[in-house]
Amino acid sequence: MRFIFLGSPGAGKGTQATILAERLNIPHISTGKILRAAIAEETSLGLEAQAYVDEGSLVPDRLIIALMRKRLSRDDARNGWILDGFPRNLSQAHALDRLLQILQQPYGRVINFEVPRSLLTERLLERGRKDDNPETIRRRLEIYQEQTEPLIALYERRRCLVTLRSDRSVEEVSLDLQEAIGLLVRL
Ligand code: AMP
Repeated sequence: MRFIFLGSPGAGKGTQATILAERLNIPHISTGKILRAAIAEETSLGLEAQAYVDEGSLVPDRLIIALMRKRLSRDDARNGWILDGFPRNLSQAHALDRLLQILQQPYGRVINFEVPRSLLTERLLERGRKDDNPETIRRRLEIYQEQTEPLIALYERRRCLVTLRSDRSVEEVSLDLQEAIGLLVRL
């Protein structure tokens, strides 16, 4: 019950993570959400992260890795979790490996949500978050391609990757996801 969700901004991984986490009663750990809350509360993490989030670039690894170390060490993370938005580059992926080894929490499946690029900008603009403006979106998609996409090959080599097409309805993607992780058998 430990899942890593990969996919570009706007691929729908947050929506699917929310649904699955509720169904399995495990925490949905979204680094983006944690950062937005920290920014709203003006904590020291929030103050350091704000400029990066606002411009759509990655918050420095040391901040994110420290945040995840703390979050994954909490009691509610012991029996499972869904990671949404972390890791986002190779150095975060390797830090996660080390962290999970220490915590003795091996991950299971890595789900890669795939959407045609032409649909992404449209979806993001509809969402209307503060960092969802055309320029920031362009930057986030570029960073995704350059830094996050290489993780697909990494997890593929480790034979734990499942790719789902998510340019369909939330319900259809959710059923595919449940099937991919063995929660549902479809005839
Ligand atoms: P998200 O909600 O996943 O789209 O994340 C929103 C923003 O938070 C991103 O554009 C980054 O600025 C920052 N962020 C979220 N997760 C990470 C991460 N793992 N590493 C660095 N920055 C992150």
